Amino acid sequence: MNKPLRTELRASTCPHDCPSTCALEVEVLDGRSIGRVRGAEDNLYTAGVICAKVARYAERIHHPDRLLHPLRRKGPKGSGEFAPISWDDALDLVASRFLAAEARHGSETVWPYYYAGTMGLVMRDGINRLRHAKKYSGFHSTICVNPAWTGFIAGTGRLAGPDPREMAKSDCVVIWGTNPVNTQVNVMTHAIRARKERGAKIVAVDIYQNGTMQQADLAVLVRPGTDGALACAVMHCLFRDGFADRDFLETYTDAPRELEEHLATRSPAWASPITGCPVETIEAFAKLIADNKRTYFRLGYGFGRSRNGTTNMHAASCIAAVRGSWTLEGGGAFHNNGAIYHWDKTMTEGLDVIDPAIRTLDQSRIGPVLVGEPDALINGVPVTALLVQNTNPVSVAPEQDKVKRGFAREDLFTCVHEQFMTETAKMADVVLPATMFMEHDDFYQGGGHQYIQLGPKLIDPPGECRNNHEVHCALAKRLGASHPGFEMTPRELIDWTLQNSGWGTLANLEANRWIDCQPDFDTAHYTKGFAWPDGKFRFKPEWKTVPFRSPWHAGPVEQMPVLPDHWAVIEEATEEYPFRLATSPARNFLNSTFNETPTSRAREKRPSVMIHPEDAAAHGIADGAKVVLGNTRGQVRLHAKHFEGVRRGVLIAESIWPNSAYEDGRGINTLTGADAIAPYGGAAFHDNRVWVRTA
Ligand code: SF4
Repeated sequence: MNKPLRTELRASTCPHDCPSTCALEVEVLDGRSIGRVRGAEDNLYTAGVICAKVARYAERIHHPDRLLHPLRRKGPKGSGEFAPISWDDALDLVASRFLAAEARHGSETVWPYYYAGTMGLVMRDGINRLRHAKKYSGFHSTICVNPAWTGFIAGTGRLAGPDPREMAKSDCVVIWGTNPVNTQVNVMTHAIRARKERGAKIVAVDIYQNGTMQQADLAVLVRPGTDGALACAVMHCLFRDGFADRDFLETYTDAPRELEEHLATRSPAWASPITGCPVETIEAFAKLIADNKRTYFRLGYGFGRSRNGTTNMHAASCIAAVRGSWTLEGGGAFHNNGAIYHWDKTMTEGLDVIDPAIRTLDQSRIGPVLVGEPDALINGVPVTALLVQNTNPVSVAPEQDKVKRGFAREDLFTCVHEQFMTETAKMADVVLPATMFMEHDDFYQGGGHQYIQLGPKLIDPPGECRNNHEVHCALAKRLGASHPGFEMTPRELIDWTLQNSGWGTLANLEANRWIDCQPDFDTAHYTKGFAWPDGKFRFKPEWKTVPFRSPWHAGPVEQMPVLPDHWAVIEEATEEYPFRLATSPARNFLNSTFNETPTSRAREKRPSVMIHPEDAAAHGIADGAKVVLGNTRGQVRLHAKHFEGVRRGVLIAESIWPNSAYEDGRGINTLTGADAIAPYGGAAFHDNRVWVRTA
């Protein structure tokens, strides 16, 4: 009889693309397998709660479809026909093709392309060291954060805010443009604690009645891309009713009188037809903030994904300044804590070997880049070689038809290092099997909180899987790239980075499991001034000079509004395209991650689009009917779901399903645009006008 296994509980960190970066406790059953995953009780942000999809991580890490061996394409591109190849032969082949491409077109023809499939600072970012050492084309990571971060920084001057745990000490928590019931569940933990312990109100602002809206005391349902109008109307009410904190405004803000004057015409009656939200709801929202100065605005990423997303984020962040909420514990506005970590990434990313003359290509515009549009290539050489890690652009990137055409090019050599045979991996010439987070050492920073956390190797990888760092180092050797970072182990890189960033050593982090980096109250609440030279919060930001890691300006920067406003640059509905479509995240997927696990797929059922029953009736669309959505970028076939929790004229397609889950293989991002959001780029995933017909 087999002896029962001895289960060990080991600490880890969720590596996925979610601001919660949960501290985990993993049941390690033996050297190769795990059991249940739980949230660490003693981590004050995670507080023992994680989402269901990570709790059942065993299903993903031990999935029978994991890639286990290197593969070389033997059939036509995209056919999925591969033959096994040894690691050495695979790496030799990749290196020789990269060197040949470089010899023909110059180093900028190679484009290392990655994203947030892991958020680990070693495994995610190390590809940049290879890029910089080899002078390959740069990568401007625009797809997720740029509009939201820029909009927030435009006001405060810094990407940081009050301790997220303070939500529990608030009298009113406003959860705006994020759905934490699905992902970043800890926001709900702290907001509900405030409700239980203090009788706090929870307000949710979103574009459909999602799980978070259903749990809110006040659900403010708006049309996509109209949050700026809502914010202006709320501020109008605060000024009108005498709840603007005039002392705070005079001391801490740049243009309070201009703002008040400008908002005089931005009443709830003005905002209502724009947002689709009744005047009474806007008034009720403003009254909650008026009655509860200790309001905490938890501003998410979702509403940044519109062509006016940057200005919408800025407008929402302005409300806390008008009310003067910043000075109180449990008050103020928070989006992300990226600025508090002051990393020295020299060793992880090879910052000391950057050549500023090398061009940087826009991640979101991979479709236009790969089909050779000159502006996307910055009028430079074509991309003829790709190394892809931690991302699945054939499924997740906008303008999918172009992305697919690009990947199908015969003159493009593609190496994809992946965990599963994704739709991007299927288009590759060489596929390399990658580890998952419990199979390698890495460390993480919390965007939605303030901890640095460790994710040590807990089990051996299956088959021949190797981690990203191993691939970077092995390729560097073959490509003649040198940097001390290639000579270090992941643990040495973690230790070096911690020490040189002022966060102690790996040994300390290992002993304590996390480092609480929360700045003191005055810094976090800007009580000694906001992070601009004059200390004033900006109602009138200079959009062209908002500090952000961007190599260029993008989109119609010149037209950005001077003061908070509704900026009408979104894809408004027309007679021909009467609906506005948003591609919100599904509860059981995280971008395209988890769309390979049976439980997630079973729970999400099938690709569908939510449509208001009255719109459905007007178009003769039955509940469950097969429909086609279309616009100038393409067409998508999926099933209609009648849903009263959207405004008329709005469609929601929760995502991201694999393209293969759609009848004709065309995924939802066939419909989304790759045109850049001002001022620093980004993809407007929730800003698409479409028509809808029964199939
Ligand atoms: S809530 Fe987010 S960070 Fe936490 S376990 Fe789930 S995906 Fe990971």
